Amino acid sequence: MWVAVSFEQAEGIVYVCAKCGAKLKSEDLAYIGILECLECGYEVLRKARPDTVKMVRGR
Ligand SMILES: [Zn+2]
Repeated sequence: MWVAVSFEQAEGIVYVCAKCGAKLKSEDLAYIGILECLECGYEVLRKARPDTVKMVRGR
């Protein structure tokens, strides 16, 4: 399910274009100042979680 997300400039967040699937770094989006795909110009992006999900065990 594709969900439009609000623009966040936090570093380390990767967005995925809902149309072409291009991965966009939040830093790059912050650079251009708009939330749209740098590859195809589509305006619907979703957050992508990092591939590596750390399981942190509490003490
Ligand atoms: Zn795209």
